[in-house]
Parts: sequence; C-alpha cells; structure tokens
Amino acid sequence: MVHVVVRLRAVLAGSVHHGSLAFAMSSQPLVLAVDLGGTKLAAGIVDDAPTLRGKAVRPTVTSDAAACLADLFACIDGLLAETQVAVQAIGVGTASMVDYARGYIVESTNLPLRDIPLRDQLQDRYGLPAAIDNDATVACIAEHRFGVARGVNDMLMLTIGTGIGGGIIARGVPYRGYSGAAAEFGHMVIDVHGPRCQGSCPNSGCLEAFVSGRALAAAARRLAAERPDSAFAAAAASGESLDGPLVTRLAQAGDGDALAVYDELGTLLGVGMTGLVNAFNPEMIVVGGAVAAAGDLLLEPARRVIAARALRPQRDQVRVVRAAFAEDAGLIGAAALAFTELLASL
Ligand SMILES: [Zn+2]
Repeated sequence: MVHVVVRLRAVLAGSVHHGSLAFAMSSQPLVLAVDLGGTKLAAGIVDDAPTLRGKAVRPTVTSDAAACLADLFACIDGLLAETQVAVQAIGVGTASMVDYARGYIVESTNLPLRDIPLRDQLQDRYGLPAAIDNDATVACIAEHRFGVARGVNDMLMLTIGTGIGGGIIARGVPYRGYSGAAAEFGHMVIDVHGPRCQGSCPNSGCLEAFVSGRALAAAARRLAAERPDSAFAAAAASGESLDGPLVTRLAQAGDGDALAVYDELGTLLGVGMTGLVNAFNPEMIVVGGAVAAAGDLLLEPARRVIAARALRPQRDQVRVVRAAFAEDAGLIGAAALAFTELLASL
C-alpha cells in the first residue's frame, strides 16, 4: 500500500483543536475531509471506521472567492501541519451546486463561489486525489457507507435544515443525474397554490417552504403573535428566540401547540415522501439535518401518510429512519465521499 505523505510546514492557523488529536502513523487509510458551509468551515482527518482523528473549525470567509479559498487552504494547511499525518485522498462536501464529474463548484447561494474548479485546485496543491460534491449528497453517502443505511442498496436521504437537501443511492451507488443536480427533493411542489419558494427557485408551494427550520421558526412566530396564552408567547416575552429548536424543545416537553406544529410538518413531509416512494421504490428514506433532531415527532406522522397514500407494494417496503450522523455529519460525509469514490479498492 502506497502512502502519500503530506507534510506541509504551513503556519498554524490557530483554529486546530489541540488535545483532540489521537492519530498515529498507522497503516490504516486516512482521508482529509472538508465541510465547506455557508457559515462554518471544518476540516478533519478521518479513518474508515469512521473516527474523526483531528478537526479544525472556523467561520467561513464569505467576502469574495479568492479570500474564501485562501482561508480554506489555510485551514487545511494548518490541520495537516498540526497532525503531521499521511492522508490518501481529499473529500469535500459543500453547500453549493456541484458538477461532480468536472469537479466544479457551479453556483452557490450562501458562498461567494461560482465556476470554481475546486477539485483540480486541491489535487494540484496537495498532490492527492480529490472529490467534491454537494453536502446533502455526501451526507447520503455517509449514511450508506457508515450509518443507518449500511447494506441498503436503494435509498434516499432528506437533509432538513434551513431548507431541504437530498441524496440518492441507486443499486448501491450515488445517483447524481445528468449534471449532478438531481435529488432536489425540497423543490417538489406539494401545494400548487402555496407560497413563493426562496432563493433562486422560481417555483411556488415547494416542500421546503412547508417543511424546514425556516417553516418551524415561522410557526413559532405566528403562535407567539396569535396566542398570547401560549408557551411561544411566554418564550418570546422572556427573550428566547422563536426558532426551530424552541419548537422541538416545547414539543418534547409535551406542549400541545408545538406538538401540533410537528404533526402538521410531519404530515406534509409524508405527502412529499409519498411521491418519492412511488417514484423511486426505495428500501429506506433517511432523514437528517437539524430538524431531524425531533425524531419520531416528525417521522411518525410522515410514516402514517405514506402508509395511507403511497402505492403498494412500495409503501409496505419502505422504512423511514432518522440519520445516524448529526454533529459531524458534514465531515463524515466528505470522508465517505473520498473513501467511496477515490479509495474504493481499500
Ligand atoms: Zn422551490
């Protein structure tokens, strides 16, 4: 087994988490994982367990493309210099539209990156094979390789955060569509008369307008305003922010209004999933992202809708399951991409 040893004597970036590094120059393959989000940039050294052997986190620089990329490379340089570890490949998950085959970041909503050949830039700079993909796709690959969908050959994943990202594993391999833009499950219409969608989507009534952290926050604000006797009004009066985690906390504490919000959210999620079940006949649908923290409060109504509305036999075959990874899902996903696409023979 050939190890490409990367020993960059770069200036330490100062954001490496000292004391959390438990690595050794072992024969176990390691990859460098990068999670490039709209607000947070993380880099990590990950093995195929997957164990995170070292991690650096910092706010994403969003002023312009050059500064964003310079900081990305500085973050990687700092982690590699700190760990002095041999990695065999680089995997990147990013909150952007990615052309996987060409290794390009095509377009971004929350990053200043457009038409960036990031894969080749990484390969040239570090002399290692690299792969980049959309963060929802790599989260899906992570659940398939390491998480709740191990051994499942036909699966879908919905990552529900501010909006909804999607991923597809078909016959055991990622399916990305013609140019890598597939699996935008958040932009399936569930109400033709629904509200305008956000960002660059020209559509109305998309699933993510109803099922997202943004939708939870809107429900919390509405309840606080309309129901002065509600727990939401009390939370607002005591200075708590009216957001998704508040709805989740109140629902888990048994608050009726919050439970009703999740019942409605889960029902609408089930309507969207019913279309996916009919179209894809998946063995499993995995739900991740911050909103998945609500667990069965969200998933049980969705399962009920699928059982009532989807076609047979697929409605009886699909399992709707919460994702295994949450906190470090982005880094584990980027590592899973590198292991799956670049080191498949290991
Ligand atoms: Zn949309």
